[in-house]
Amino acid sequence: MPVYGQSYWAPAKTRAAARRPATGTLTADVVVIGGGFTGCAAAYALAHAGLDVVLLEADRLATGATEGSVGAILPVPDAALLDVEKEAGKRPARVAFTELRKSSLDLAATLKRLGVKCDLSATSLLVNAPFTNDAARLKKELAARKAIKLDGLWLSPEASRRALVTETQGAMRVRDAAVLHPVRAALGLAEAARAKGARIFEQTRVKKTTFTRKDATVAFAGGRITTRGVVVATGTPGPVFHQLDRHVRTARGYAVVTDPLTPAMRKLVGARDALYTEGTESPRFLRWLPGHRALFAGLTGPEIAAPLRAAAVRQRANQLMYELSLRYPDISGLPPAFGWDLPVVTTVDRLPWIGPHRNYPFHFFAVALGWHGEAFGWLAARAAARFFTDSATREDDLLGFMRTL
Ligand SMILES: Cc1cc2nc3c(=O)[nH]c(=O)nc-3n(C[C@H](O)[C@H](O)[C@H](O)COP(=O)(O)OP(=O)(O)OC[C@H]3O[C@@H](n4cnc5c(N)ncnc54)[C@H](O)[C@@H]3O)c2cc1C
Repeated sequence: MPVYGQSYWAPAKTRAAARRPATGTLTADVVVIGGGFTGCAAAYALAHAGLDVVLLEADRLATGATEGSVGAILPVPDAALLDVEKEAGKRPARVAFTELRKSSLDLAATLKRLGVKCDLSATSLLVNAPFTNDAARLKKELAARKAIKLDGLWLSPEASRRALVTETQGAMRVRDAAVLHPVRAALGLAEAARAKGARIFEQTRVKKTTFTRKDATVAFAGGRITTRGVVVATGTPGPVFHQLDRHVRTARGYAVVTDPLTPAMRKLVGARDALYTEGTESPRFLRWLPGHRALFAGLTGPEIAAPLRAAAVRQRANQLMYELSLRYPDISGLPPAFGWDLPVVTTVDRLPWIGPHRNYPFHFFAVALGWHGEAFGWLAARAAARFFTDSATREDDLLGFMRTL
């Protein structure tokens, strides 16, 4: 029977017992709010930089969008360079694309160096052009990427069909992607942060933050923390920073994992050794999992009231299975094993908000990670560490709210 409403990555065996909530009056150099991949990565990067860090997570670590994600280190943003250049401006677009590539390599190297057991495996990303007009657009995109020295190789329709075994008019291959278990990766970074002295609390929801000229205070149900740094890694600005909500759009994303492919199906669907996405208006993501299962995601819809969500997950999971069977008719009839939903927070210009905001002294935001993958969370973590050690770069500035000014 399919399990609806629970992510494939959720099983409790990946987790230790819950950490205790924070209580009392504390101090710290930096408080990280939110214990998803971005918050855990930030806690590690800040503690590694020698700062005294406290991380506060409202629920359990890595239970938000991180638990629902595909678990991919994407070396390019989930957007076309040409679109981002138009909407965010050429400089921010170029910085995002070039820095993200460096970040994806650095994240993979860091996880390896720390010995985080998260099934990290290098792969490439294939961006498919199912129809002729998609191919024309994707070729233009590849030329724009090459002009700023980004990696990419055009596969002819024949080569693309061999690699993907699906309807294709060609594809762009991008190297240096990786896949991982997103929950284990986040928990591993949290553990590495703890080993460097970070104090990590679960079941501690931040209610508000305030600031004076001297410092900031982070308030939660059982107490407060006085600090000179706050990293907001809550996915969306949310109720605590509701004035910034106009900068983001929140939707629901859906994902399914199939039952294992039968041996006969496996022979028909090719090598299955790359991450798959599409150079279309509304792309899907396909990741082949160990045990011959497929993880298929990318469907988004409006936010849904809680009582209607269970029915929506079931319906959208079946829609994704149908869409998967259109791309791979040879596996049609395969049942879903898991179907779940998750928040998808994006911005108008498609890049996340990573940086300070002039109305919030001592704060650093790392929100609206959308469908970008874990490399952007790592990029945000490293930028936060530079910000709070007074070593921010000019590139860092371009990924934040400066873009709107
Ligand atoms: C193919 C693909 C699909 C992806 N799908 C998605 C997707 O659908 N949606 C998406 O967003 N990202 C998706 N990602 C991107 C990426 O993996 C995630 O965005 C990333 O893991 C999100 O991490 P996060 O830490 O920013 O957010 P989250 O994992 O959501 O973490 C935020 C945390 O903050 C906590 N929190 C919130 N408010 C408070 C508070 N007041 N006090 C304390 N804690 C609080 C929450 O409980 C939560 O644990 C996808 C990536 C890829 C490659």
